[in-house]
Amino acid sequence: MKRLIRPVYNAGGYVFATKAADIARSAGYDMPARLASNENPYPPSPDVLAAARLALRNVNRYPDERSDEFRLALKEKFGDFSFVSGVGMDGVIETVIRTTIGDGDRIVVSTPTFSFYRLAAQAQGGEVIDVPRNDDFSVDAEKISSAASECDAKIVFLCTPNNPSGNVTPGKDIEKILDSIDGMLFLDNAYVDFCDEDYISLMSDYENLIIGRTMSKYYGLAGLRVGFGIVPGWFADYYERAQTPFVLNSVSMAAAAAALRNDSYTVKYHSVVKEWRERFINESPYPAVSGGANFVMFDVSPYEGDEVVGMLARKGVIVRSCASFPGLGDNYIRVSIGEPWENEMFLKEINSL
Ligand SMILES: *Cc1c(COP(=O)(O)O)cnc(C)c1O
Repeated sequence: MKRLIRPVYNAGGYVFATKAADIARSAGYDMPARLASNENPYPPSPDVLAAARLALRNVNRYPDERSDEFRLALKEKFGDFSFVSGVGMDGVIETVIRTTIGDGDRIVVSTPTFSFYRLAAQAQGGEVIDVPRNDDFSVDAEKISSAASECDAKIVFLCTPNNPSGNVTPGKDIEKILDSIDGMLFLDNAYVDFCDEDYISLMSDYENLIIGRTMSKYYGLAGLRVGFGIVPGWFADYYERAQTPFVLNSVSMAAAAAALRNDSYTVKYHSVVKEWRERFINESPYPAVSGGANFVMFDVSPYEGDEVVGMLARKGVIVRSCASFPGLGDNYIRVSIGEPWENEMFLKEINSL
């Protein structure tokens, strides 16, 4: 029956960080430090739980197809822009690509970076043009612009703060790219809440900018799968046409709206991130890229990332090897900032490898 499957799915899919968790469990750690997926380690606030519980009472009904409540909360928080939503930002990325990319269309990706742009584009028959980042993982705006013009890219994908390197691309470089491309720029801002740049003001000046955001990281709702995009007004209607009907469930939307309205609760995690990001960089024996996300990437040479992940897992610390990121060497790990006890555990073990 395998002949029924499209060839694009023979190559494998998204790589999850599960193996390390299995190793930790078999080493006897029932409560390992979970620092592989960049999640907010704290449970949602009572407000969020109450909103979800209330929505749960009405799940015999289809959800609001226009996501009015969630959109209203987005407008209150970010301003009067056009918003679209999706099942995680992954869902937004997938729908943006389904709206725009068909056989032979090209996207430009600034590598090494998040892998899902590539998978989603290839699934639609699109072609991926990689533009490598500089050695320090910064972005060469001119290189991106000229690559995009050369291949007539429909979309450029740029992640800032970048996953996995964590560094932030300055707004002026983003403007350079926006000014010089014919297609759109998808700015992946999954971690923007942890840095000092805010790109939203660019929305007023550009018709070719999409900002992708998620409720999974800073807002702590990874399990509910809510992402959103800030899009140019002309694009929103086409996006809706490409989207699965009733894509966001009512419980997730209610919780997300409540989380946006009460982010004083998430501020606690924000301060944990700021403090420990510095400590990770200063107190680890391996060089780190300094960044603006809730994780830090380390160069663990002469070890390979996979080896270090195995060694740490046997000590009950789960981190992510970066070996699966195309365009990055084999010697990197990415470590999320978790609760203080988890962070302590990581620093202790990385110092005694
Ligand atoms: C986590 C992540 C996302 C998507 O997260 P969702 O849980 O699907 O909202 C998107 N981009 C990057 C860079 C991420 O790290």
